Amino acid sequence: MFGTSWRVGRIAGIEVRVDSSWVVIALLITYSMYLRASILYPELSGGGAVALGILATVLFFGSVLVHELAHAVVSQARGIRVQDITLFLFGGATRARVESRGPADEFLIALVGPLTSALLAALFGIVATLGRDVLSTPVVGTFGYLAWTNLLLAVFNLLPGFPLDGGRLLRSAIWKATGSLRRATRVASLAGQAVGWLLVAAGVASLLGGNLAGAIWFAFIGWFLVQAARASYQELQLRDMLRGVEAEDVMAGDLVRIPPELSLQDAVDDYFMRYDHGAFPVDEQGRTIGLLTLRGVRRVPKEQWPTRRVRDHMVPLGDQVVVAPEARMDDVLGKLQDGDAGRVLVVQDGEVVGIITPSDLTRWLRRWRALDSRAR
Ligand SMILES: [Zn+2]
Repeated sequence: MFGTSWRVGRIAGIEVRVDSSWVVIALLITYSMYLRASILYPELSGGGAVALGILATVLFFGSVLVHELAHAVVSQARGIRVQDITLFLFGGATRARVESRGPADEFLIALVGPLTSALLAALFGIVATLGRDVLSTPVVGTFGYLAWTNLLLAVFNLLPGFPLDGGRLLRSAIWKATGSLRRATRVASLAGQAVGWLLVAAGVASLLGGNLAGAIWFAFIGWFLVQAARASYQELQLRDMLRGVEAEDVMAGDLVRIPPELSLQDAVDDYFMRYDHGAFPVDEQGRTIGLLTLRGVRRVPKEQWPTRRVRDHMVPLGDQVVVAPEARMDDVLGKLQDGDAGRVLVVQDGEVVGIITPSDLTRWLRRWRALDSRAR
């Protein structure tokens, strides 16, 4: 769902990343915080307003990060490995298979986020109150503002729509009551879509009321939630279908191999133009040494294709995401989603025996659905 993200650091052993969308939002929020500071406190100099805007933004995203860290730390304390935390748009996401244990763990891990935001709200409120005589008015005002923002974050996250924390609480309760994670996820993600549409409706109402900024905010968050709820359920369905399936069942196995000494021109004419593949394993004496991809060829100017060799433009096998033929497909799915190559190689005894791309998976799913009515 998201684009590129960058690693920015590691806290308590957990990798923290920022999504590319976040940079734009961070600038927008800094700017709006600066505007707010310069309107509310006209006595501030330009530099002072900028500094206050930056302080408010840092504390805002710091609060979001602490919220996510609370989820992550409790996950780890319950023995659930945390992959990473990504900051994006107005919030963050902690990647961990929270549903891998039971409803009690999910309940606890979900609850600690809004609790932490509420606690931060109280802390900022206390600092604003106690600091009234010591700190300057703009700083006190900023702390007060952050108290409200954190309270709003706590309340928003408690909305009962999956994948918000409130939706996770709802899911764990239904899961506990029915014993079925699948049914619980279905209900919670439908609730997520309903909450999302309600927010979109609130956006339309704001627009009619003449509040353009509020309208954009509501509509945007609502639409985002609808999409996230839908995607969460589809992913669960996908994992359900892939249970018990191995990499070799899904992989495209009819591989055409390409020799390393071939020129790129011949590779294009005799392979890329002839077969419906985006990549070819490069084999030398029965061993795969790399992969020639369409993307790799495209990086070389066309007029140089006749003189360049496949060997010099392939991606070495060591740089690829590799699995065994008997690897479980739900793990492979994770690797396919995490890696940016969009492809997983199936390797047996040093030789690539298959490739799995999202389109191979789609093809497999289409056949599976055609043959198995339980998929509905
Ligand atoms: Zn949360």
